[in-house]
Amino acid sequence: MKLVLASDNAHKLTEFRELFRSLNAELLSKKETGFTAEVEENGATFEENALIKAEAVMRATGLPAIADDSGLCVDALGGEPGVRSARYTGSHSDSDEDRYRLVLSNLGDRKDRSARFVCALCCVFPDGTVLRARGECEGEILFAPQGDNGFGYDPIFRPAGFDRSMAELTMEEKNAISHRGKALVNFRKEWEKIYADK
Ligand code: IMP
Repeated sequence: MKLVLASDNAHKLTEFRELFRSLNAELLSKKETGFTAEVEENGATFEENALIKAEAVMRATGLPAIADDSGLCVDALGGEPGVRSARYTGSHSDSDEDRYRLVLSNLGDRKDRSARFVCALCCVFPDGTVLRARGECEGEILFAPQGDNGFGYDPIFRPAGFDRSMAELTMEEKNAISHRGKALVNFRKEWEKIYADK
């Protein structure tokens, strides 16, 4: 069986391909199917955005499509940056550092620094079947950035149970506890429960 990943992110493609290989399914990139259009992510939740992306790619390609949407939610900022994580400063062209510096400045010296990374996965089949999975990684926002690994908000996020930032973890350590890693584990359970013989 062939599926398409509704993303152009090479890192995600590698991670997802590994999962689908073990599920005996071949995962194509968007590029490999010739799909080039930009899909507007205007949903109010991670789940809505993942569904919007997966549906658009499934309709255009006729193949089952899987999409993820993820971001950082900071409690003291009312859940922001949330679904606006990739454009928190108002522009996609700003850097990851611009965005995490804005979180630090909006949070100031607030004591409540609890936060979580969230990842929603959605797989849509041409027959209308929808498979969903979610993963969360709890932690807190540091007062200053630490570490150079990872991407996005990793340097300012300390996962619960660690004394290092997400950007100071190895890739293996991060994958074992990350929102995306957990969503993939949950997705595998859903897939095996329902679609093992699809
Ligand atoms: P998307 O789901 O790829 O659109 O990611 C949205 C945004 O959330 C990214 O641009 C990052 O800023 C942030 N984000 C998602 N996952 C991570 C992560 O694992 N570490 C740090 N930032 C992340």
